[in-house]
Amino acid sequence: METIKRRKVKDLLQEQPGTEVLAKGWVRTKRGNKQIKFIALNDGSTIYNIQVVADTAKIDEDTLRRVTTGASLSVRGTLVASVGSGQAVEIQAESIEVLGECDPVRYPLQKKDTSLEYLRTVAHMRLRTNTFGAVLRIRHAMAFAIHKFFNDKGFVYLHTPLITESDAEGAGDMFQVTTMNLENIPKKKDGTVDFSKDFFGKKTSLTVSGQLEGELGATAVGEIYTFGPTFRAENSNTPRHLAEFWMIEPEMAFYDIEDNMELAEEFVKYLVQYALDHSMDDLQFLCDKYDNGLIERLRSVLGIAFQRVTYTEAVEILEAAVASGVQFEYPVSWGMDFQSEHERYLVEKHFGKPVILIDFPKDIKAFYMKQNEDGRTVRGMDVLFPKIGEIIGGSERESSLEKLEARIDELKMSRKNLEWYLDTRRYGTVPHSGFGLGFERLLLFVTGMANIRDVIPFPRTPKNAEF
Ligand code: ATP
Ligand code: MN
Repeated sequence: METIKRRKVKDLLQEQPGTEVLAKGWVRTKRGNKQIKFIALNDGSTIYNIQVVADTAKIDEDTLRRVTTGASLSVRGTLVASVGSGQAVEIQAESIEVLGECDPVRYPLQKKDTSLEYLRTVAHMRLRTNTFGAVLRIRHAMAFAIHKFFNDKGFVYLHTPLITESDAEGAGDMFQVTTMNLENIPKKKDGTVDFSKDFFGKKTSLTVSGQLEGELGATAVGEIYTFGPTFRAENSNTPRHLAEFWMIEPEMAFYDIEDNMELAEEFVKYLVQYALDHSMDDLQFLCDKYDNGLIERLRSVLGIAFQRVTYTEAVEILEAAVASGVQFEYPVSWGMDFQSEHERYLVEKHFGKPVILIDFPKDIKAFYMKQNEDGRTVRGMDVLFPKIGEIIGGSERESSLEKLEARIDELKMSRKNLEWYLDTRRYGTVPHSGFGLGFERLLLFVTGMANIRDVIPFPRTPKNAEF
């Protein structure tokens, strides 16, 4: 037999009948009768299976016995027009080789419980389901689109460190990084831990944000973005928080808050459009299976301008809502940090579109945000989305050294660890802005999945770091 090259199922489904093909993949189902078997084969390249038709006159009984759900196969045959498979073509098998058997008795997905919760406990099978195939392909498409968006605009992809000594961003609780023997921690005379004996000679942690380093990049090459793992030891067991997630953080010299908002809006719209253009098969599958409103909701954010509203106006809207009988778990008053119930009220009930909140009380935002003239608010911005709440947090940065130092002192933060950062304001400071988009929050929106654990292949959450 002449050798032919293996091709992916996605590609074969577009091919003309009559073509000789070699396909490899995993068995989704097998059915049929004594004379003929129909095998649904999937290789992860698409949500769709290709049907393999095996005539028992050609394929021996022992091979077909070993073709069970989950087994991996190499199939050689000819494409023929299909009537029953739901696809244009199917493979008339010439030969089948079972690459890896899958014991039908022990196969974990034969169990009745194939809930998303149960799947989280079977790592290998989870990723092989239709749902995770779709999620993983969309996740990839979004990662690619993010790089494309910024590359096309001339941004530089900056790699910021995962291990950092900076703990001053106030973005979240940190995971400490140490090689010290925890059974026998070196102590100083006064009884405190002697970090000079630790690997880096100081206390270090996993990063909660690449922003501060990002600002150094932006004030050097103009426009940068980071895209990497981010760690927060927040004990919030919610469907929107992970202990390890991925964040995209663009940072731009010479951008004010207006430019920043414009970029954020253009960016998320671009990503949603990209998903609609490139991942429709997977979106349609998720839409049918989990969330009938998904595709409609994706389209709904494209055509309209996001609603821009100040924090103070938003508080007034929420107070009016409370006065008219709307109940929130957390009370509303100026100075509070909005909970997702408030964010979702604004987006879903009041405005009916994505919202960009600006001008927050300075006390609920980080030290680096640009201070407004009123002395009590800062130029922060949060982009709020339907079903998710906050998807982006950002700000114009304070570019004045004096104001920044005063704020650091006011917050009783240690300036010592921040001198390298403050130097950007000492040497050629510029107005600049940036924001952080939580990659998995974006994916929650794009896939319509309800739990953030189900848009990342290996979720890390409190008390869970399996696989
Ligand atoms: P939230 O208030 O929702 O906890 P945050 O205000 O702590 O978020 P930022 O510090 O502004 O978040 O981080 C920027 C973005 O990172 C957020 O808008 C969100 O999309 C994402 N993000 C923050 N924390 C998490 C987390 N624990 N898991 C997943 N994504 C997160
Ligand atoms: Mn935030």
